[in-house]
Amino acid sequence: MSGPKHRTTRWLRQFLMPLTLCVASMGPAAADQSLDRQLRGISEQARYVPEQALPQLLLLERQARAADGDTKAELLSQLSMAQRGLGRQDVALALADELIAIGQDGRHPVGLAKGLLAKGEIMVLMNDLERSHALLWQAEKVAGLTNDLALQSETSVASGQAFAEAGNFPVALNRLQSAVATARRDDQPIVLITALNALARLQRQMKDYERGFSTLKEAMDLAQQIGASTRVAALLNTEYLFTSATKQPARGLKVLLEALDLQTAAHDTATIHITLVNLSDSYLIAKNYPKARMYATQAISAARRVKDVATEATAYVNIGEAQLGMGNLIESKQNFERGLALYETSGDKPALQSMLLEYGTVLEQACDMAGAIAAYHRERALSNEMFENARQKAVNELQQRYQADDRERRIELLSRENQVKSAEIDNRRLQQRVWWLLAVVFTMGSVIVALLYRKVQHANAQLQVKNLELKQQSVRDPLTLLYNRRHFQEFMRSYAQHDARSPGTPGTDTVGAMFLLDVDHFKNVNDGYGHAAGDAVLKMIAENLGVILRETDMIVRWGGEEFLAFLPAISRNGVDDIARRLLTGIAAQGIDYQGQRIAVNVSVGFASYPLLANGVPISWERTVNLVDMALYMAKSHGRNRAYGITNFDQVDEQTIVRMEQDLEQAANEGLVELSVIHGMPADPRASTVASTETVADMALS
Ligand code: GH3
Ligand code: MG
Ligand code: MG
Repeated sequence: MSGPKHRTTRWLRQFLMPLTLCVASMGPAAADQSLDRQLRGISEQARYVPEQALPQLLLLERQARAADGDTKAELLSQLSMAQRGLGRQDVALALADELIAIGQDGRHPVGLAKGLLAKGEIMVLMNDLERSHALLWQAEKVAGLTNDLALQSETSVASGQAFAEAGNFPVALNRLQSAVATARRDDQPIVLITALNALARLQRQMKDYERGFSTLKEAMDLAQQIGASTRVAALLNTEYLFTSATKQPARGLKVLLEALDLQTAAHDTATIHITLVNLSDSYLIAKNYPKARMYATQAISAARRVKDVATEATAYVNIGEAQLGMGNLIESKQNFERGLALYETSGDKPALQSMLLEYGTVLEQACDMAGAIAAYHRERALSNEMFENARQKAVNELQQRYQADDRERRIELLSRENQVKSAEIDNRRLQQRVWWLLAVVFTMGSVIVALLYRKVQHANAQLQVKNLELKQQSVRDPLTLLYNRRHFQEFMRSYAQHDARSPGTPGTDTVGAMFLLDVDHFKNVNDGYGHAAGDAVLKMIAENLGVILRETDMIVRWGGEEFLAFLPAISRNGVDDIARRLLTGIAAQGIDYQGQRIAVNVSVGFASYPLLANGVPISWERTVNLVDMALYMAKSHGRNRAYGITNFDQVDEQTIVRMEQDLEQAANEGLVELSVIHGMPADPRASTVASTETVADMALS
């Protein structure tokens, strides 16, 4: 077989130590030695000489399990490693799981990291690289939580190697450089040697031989310095890989033999099979088939001890090649087949595939064409199977990714739905607020409108009152509150139209009447008592008229001290009586003004209404004129008396015109009959304003 087997890329990490030193000086643990120191003393043996380490560890087990967490974790870790070195992978695994369980409560990261590391290493042997990598990466993370620099460096080494196995060299380089840096801060040279060895191997893989050699040299110097022969052997195996890559077979053989010597001397049983299988490789290249077969045979028994099936398989294939070289075709094929069968059980399919190819080539060279074809067929079938597996894996990954994407999409969808819902809720809340606001605005608006409405109503009422007042003012005289002349005129216009019924006609008992009054010598009141006294007298007369006449009668302030009363319906015979009542009623009612009593007389002109000329009523205006004429006569005949036109039946128009021109003359001519009523003499207690009657007055009376 040409070149180092693929397995050799990994084994070195398990290498180890100066058994000579440790084991010889060890003996039963001294009572004064701390458990930790004893355990530290055994650790390299546990790695490289497990059958010697195990009894010592079992002796310490009871004590160490009762000790604190770190000590117990170290014991279990070493026990697991020793058991693994002895091929008891199930026991080693149980111990690793025990460590993980101790660490998993979160309070003991050192134990957890050591457990994960141990389990990850066991998984390599069980050819479950994927699981191994996951465990080792986790181990590195957990170790980062501790203060244990050695543990951090060791887990970084394991993690870096896992990355290299997974083909991620940049990250692998980063982890291994970090492992070296951490190890430099620690005081244990073994830790640094381990890290440097791993880094040198990666540098070789990355074809950085120059740097790789210098890394390797540093490690080698250190290992030799502390006399760690198993470590030196491990480093020599690394050097062998370099020589093989740089095509220096002679030097490769030399370093391997050197390593073998050291391991044999150290009783290394855990890793010696690697050196042996590499030696068989080297001798195959050198075409020294008997030596190649010899070392391969030794490798097989050494690999079996540690149950390293892959190395055992390689060794069988190497024997097969050696046999072929020696011309023993049948033995060759037998060994190849055994090797291939072992690869198959180990489950390392890529290795099996490359072996089958090699096997085919070898058979071809040996002119066993049928065998070669069979090998190629197997290789093809395996290749297809691997391809199918890889494809299936890719499909699964794709499906998982799709499912993850789908899940994410759903989550996204749900969260969007959620957003929409919460937006809806916000919206509804906003709507509610708007409604509330509207309600408040509406209520306030209603209140305002109601208030305004009330105000308007109030204003309307006030307006009505004002209008009424205005109307009153327009129809009433402000001093006496009697109707004014304009109102009387309006009243008479409509009265003449609508009340055409004529009470003055013969045969009816009622009749209308018009009285015009003028205060006698009123000027004297003003002059004697002042204008205010005159006003008071006018008001007194107005009130008095209201008392003397009826409510239905229309009483008007006709002019300054003149009053007109229109009585629509009185008894035909009562007209004179009313004139008398007016004369006496007003004269009797004096007023007390500033301690003095003032009384006045009035003169009255009157007529019944309507007056008929040839049966036709004459207008109210002409009637007023006639009444005014009668008043004039009352004045001129001595005042304090009333002159009335009565018995006016069926005069003609001409007579009326005469009467309008000179009533007295008409009366004298007998055209009209006048009734004359005298007032009472003035109240002797009162200061009357009536002047002495004139001669004309007396004559007429
Ligand atoms: P006669 O008997 O001839 O009617 O004499 P008289 O003084 O009453 O008549 P005259 O026409 O000379 O005077 C009327 C006076 O009445 C003149 C005027 O100042 C006065 N008078 C008119 N209106 C008012 C008023 O509203 N208040 C007052 N105090 N006096 C008025
Ligand atoms: Mg007058
Ligand atoms: Mg007068």
